[in-house]
Amino acid sequence: MMIDLPIHVASSYKSPTQIARIIAEQWLQDNMYCLACDSTHLDATTPETRVHDFACDSCDEQYQLKSKSTRFGRKLADSAYKPLKEAIQHNRAPTFLFMHYTRDAWKVRDLFMIPSHFIPLTAIQERRPLRPTARRSGWIGCNILLHRLPLDGRIQVIEDGRIRSARDVRTDWRRFSFLRDSTWRSRGWTSDVLTHARIAYVHLYPSTSLWSSHLPLMLDTVLPKNETNIKESLQYRERNKNVMPFPSFSSVQTP
Ligand SMILES: [Zn+2]
Repeated sequence: MMIDLPIHVASSYKSPTQIARIIAEQWLQDNMYCLACDSTHLDATTPETRVHDFACDSCDEQYQLKSKSTRFGRKLADSAYKPLKEAIQHNRAPTFLFMHYTRDAWKVRDLFMIPSHFIPLTAIQERRPLRPTARRSGWIGCNILLHRLPLDGRIQVIEDGRIRSARDVRTDWRRFSFLRDSTWRSRGWTSDVLTHARIAYVHLYPSTSLWSSHLPLMLDTVLPKNETNIKESLQYRERNKNVMPFPSFSSVQTP
């Protein structure tokens, strides 16, 4: 893997947006491997695919690339809302790759991924339909709410220009891969709870007993009542104790 971007592939393009997209996509094809299996490359998919633009031909894991020349903030515009919502509800959401590159030196500064099993519906925000005067009048896009995605699911591939080993990156991937066997509601619930629990634990409730007593309230906030099987998710946590260095859930009363 190299951090230099292949700027030569965009020499015939004029639009800065197109240039950035072509260069980022070519870099991905030349450098990126699959996280879900041992495949050493990803293939670009046909333009007709609506929620992913790369796929692994060995295990069929799907990927969508988002690239920017500035750091990623709290939200990011994405493609059409409905196809992504349906993909999440059918456990077909892509793994998102977020690339931050520098335009002066054309190098990848940071690249992190959010695995497909960590994309909850609560992190996808429906946008207003485009105005009647717009070229695609009525079209409804969406935003990805990065602050609603759990830090536990953020897998760093390149960090501040430093490339992590593929072995370490895949180890991070496998840490939560048990979620792939669960329903989309359970995945989403676990992702939401991890996001909120970590924020609460680190910033608000450093005391174990206080944190535990607030968890039921926190869960009520995350999801409407009875939307998912909370006990099932708690059992996931019990079976995978190493993924959350938090106090035990055993003393917590579920809502
Ligand atoms: Zn694969």
